[in-house]
Amino acid sequence: MLKTGVGFINGDFLGASDDATIDVLNPATGEVLAKAPSMGCVETQTAIAAAAAAFPTWSRLVAKERCKIMRRWYDEVMAHQDDICTIMTMESGKPYTESKGEFLSGAASIEWFAEEGRRVTGDVLQPVAPHRRQLIVKQPVGVAAAITPWNFPMSMITRKVSPAIAAGCTVVLKPAEATPLTALALAELARRAGMPDGVFNIVVGDPAAIGKAMLDSDTVRKIGFTGSTAVGKHLMAGAAATVKRVSLELGGNAPYIVFDDADVEAAAAGIVASAFRNAGQTCICANRVLVQDGVYDTFVEAVTERVSKLKLGSGMDPTTTLGPLISDKGVQRVQDHVEDALAKGATATIGGKRPDLPQPYDKGFFFSPTVLANATIDMKVFREETFGPAIPLFRFRTDTEAVQLANDTEYGLAAYFWTQDLARAWRVAEELEYGMVGVNDVAITSEVAPFGGIKQSGLGREQSKYGLDEYLYLKYIQMGNI
Ligand code: NAD
Repeated sequence: MLKTGVGFINGDFLGASDDATIDVLNPATGEVLAKAPSMGCVETQTAIAAAAAAFPTWSRLVAKERCKIMRRWYDEVMAHQDDICTIMTMESGKPYTESKGEFLSGAASIEWFAEEGRRVTGDVLQPVAPHRRQLIVKQPVGVAAAITPWNFPMSMITRKVSPAIAAGCTVVLKPAEATPLTALALAELARRAGMPDGVFNIVVGDPAAIGKAMLDSDTVRKIGFTGSTAVGKHLMAGAAATVKRVSLELGGNAPYIVFDDADVEAAAAGIVASAFRNAGQTCICANRVLVQDGVYDTFVEAVTERVSKLKLGSGMDPTTTLGPLISDKGVQRVQDHVEDALAKGATATIGGKRPDLPQPYDKGFFFSPTVLANATIDMKVFREETFGPAIPLFRFRTDTEAVQLANDTEYGLAAYFWTQDLARAWRVAEELEYGMVGVNDVAITSEVAPFGGIKQSGLGREQSKYGLDEYLYLKYIQMGNI
């Protein structure tokens, strides 16, 4: 099932046209794990042509038939859970148990959209004149492009590809060059499930060249993207030339508010689960912890105690609870943010530096789990996404101040808060300018609920019935002379 050095175009696993490759690294050791092809414009155009050729047949299949194939894909995926989780951990570094969590969530998207695709319906309107009939049908938008990041090598793919193909679209996917192997395994399992050639294609390689070929193509009618806000803006601007639809899941800077009346132990467990998942490289990770005066010191102590129990290491070691970051660049960003905070008066109650690990992990991309007490808003950790295992704890006094601090960012993806006061829960949930809000809970992602942000965190929604709409357009039909 493991495919290396290839993309997947029109049902075939192919290398780059000039056989060029790029290295896929194991983030736990920095060693080369596999080769990926260095594809660009030519291969992307070939994949788009294959998707366009497959579109008429695929889009005209009755939904039930499309969904049967998707359901078989889901069964194949479920039957290869351990293989996929191993591949995911090897290329992304995340602990194996976290790969299992992502696997289940990623597979659930396939299953959900296989079912949801059969429930696409339209409307029959009350006619405006007796001899007229007016109706609305939903049709697939056409060839869809998907561009995904490395932090969730499986679920970011299935939450785009599944609604697209369930709606009747065909797809060209560009997975992150750091984690292409999970994507290729999914393609192999789709092939085994009987997915027709050209319905699901994968190009791996030069992001700018592949992205440009997708943007320039008039055939590609939709781009679904998850990644940084900078690349999202570039894609949105580029999509204007051919007026493509875009859905963008971009950066976040999630506030995590702990009110005086919170269950402090539960809130401390929640922050460790949220902020250290995937070594802090999750767009909905809690980034800025805002703690009310009355519980600040107790909370710092409770969090530090829990963080001290995290165990750094290879994701394949079952005792590991915190894996490496994806790259040395990622480690440097965390270090820069932590040093900036320490220089401006924060205190590291734990961590604050790169760890000393034995060979071969000394060459891996690790950073010690870090808690920064006495953080203030002039620090980088307040404005910028750290995307690593470091949490800053800010102090606040009133509800108004907490909400004002929470909303003081250009991002608007996820927010969390802890309180036992129902009135406060309603009020704060409504006042937070975010696409998703967790109240006394951090595990907010599921296939049934809409995932996405507001402000510069993005446009559109993934998952849920709303995620399917992103791949359908409304066609209004009027019939006269009746
Ligand atoms: P990134 O934007 O650099 O990369 C994401 C994807 O875009 C990768 O596949 C990359 O190869 C591709 N890409 C890069 N330049 C491109 C270009 N010019 N044209 C086309 N594609 C291009 O982001 P990243 O470093 O991989 O991920 C980290 C960021 O993603 C963080 O800011 C994080 O918050 C965000 N993210 C958001 C979500 C979400 O759902 N909102 C989920 C995960 C990550």
